[in-house]
Amino acid sequence: SKSKGSSKGAECVKVVIRCRPLNSKEKEQGHQRIVEMDVKGGVVEVKSPKPGELPKKFTFDSVYDWDSKQCDLYDETFRDLVESVLNGFNGTIFAYGQTGTGKTFTMQGVKTDPDLRGVIPNSFEHIYQHIARAQNQQYLVRASYIEIYQEEIRDLLNKDQNKKFELKESPDTGVYVKGVTACVAKSIKELERAMDTGNANRAVGATNMNEHSSRSHAIMVVTIECSEDTNDGENHIRVGKLNMVDLAGSERQTKTGATGDRLKEATKINLSLSALGNVISALVDGKSSHIPYRDSKLTRLLQDSLGGNAKTVMVANIGPASYNYDETITTLRYANRAK
Ligand code: ADP
Ligand code: MG
Repeated sequence: SKSKGSSKGAECVKVVIRCRPLNSKEKEQGHQRIVEMDVKGGVVEVKSPKPGELPKKFTFDSVYDWDSKQCDLYDETFRDLVESVLNGFNGTIFAYGQTGTGKTFTMQGVKTDPDLRGVIPNSFEHIYQHIARAQNQQYLVRASYIEIYQEEIRDLLNKDQNKKFELKESPDTGVYVKGVTACVAKSIKELERAMDTGNANRAVGATNMNEHSSRSHAIMVVTIECSEDTNDGENHIRVGKLNMVDLAGSERQTKTGATGDRLKEATKINLSLSALGNVISALVDGKSSHIPYRDSKLTRLLQDSLGGNAKTVMVANIGPASYNYDETITTLRYANRAK
């Protein structure tokens, strides 16, 4: 389904667009939808609010409109990736986009409504269904949940939320967060508990939760170790890692007139998102000998889960209304470059 390049990089990176519905406030205020989607053709068209300007058209692997169902996204876009993690490969799912466009809805969804559950809880279910069917394999599932805020790493499962964690590198294990909690999870419930604990800790110390979550990356990592006794009497172990990333808001923070610490913070957010864009486009391009993983903590941390045999899906979320026009176009361009 790739339009550009035939390299392995292009094969394993999938970029999809999701547009949320107009919300009730937008409807009340009389906002119109300026986004059109041709779901079958993978086309997004955005009408310009500026008179005389032509609509802008983009084509992607898949596009999901305001009526899209969480379970359809899972089955069509995420399931293969999670399945490959169960088979011992690494995979990364990103939600990208301006604050308020549906990143957290896509990743977590609405906990209390099974139809509205996002990719994280749906992956938990998928993982334990797979394990329940396994015949000769033993599985060990572990969860970590970390946050990167201003290029600093916090362990969302640690009692001490003030502690800063460092990235280390070893020849055996690659890049890892030194000392980070890895909860062994024996059931869906235990994975869900880790997610809830992490979400609760995310809010700790944040005076404005919305603002905090829009400026930090939340990364849920599920490591799945499978050990199997083969017919020849040997024991094989494979390890797959599933990273699910709710990225910081992509809105251009430096334009909002921020100064001092705020500006410093804004610059770092923009930097890590552009570093991610550079890594993904270098992978997709397939011709680059240098993939710039080292340019941000996020890309360094995910180095062994981006490229190579790893699968990546990026969901770029957009809003439907005309006041989002500039950010919507910026997001579509970013996504277009990544595909
Ligand atoms: P973000 O995490 O990108 O800031 P949210 O996921 O919090 O955005 O979404 C903002 C609001 O829009 C939430 O109330 C969410 O429930 C709602 N929303 C987002 N996407 C959808 C969707 N596809 N369908 C219905 N509601 C959505
Ligand atoms: Mg969010």
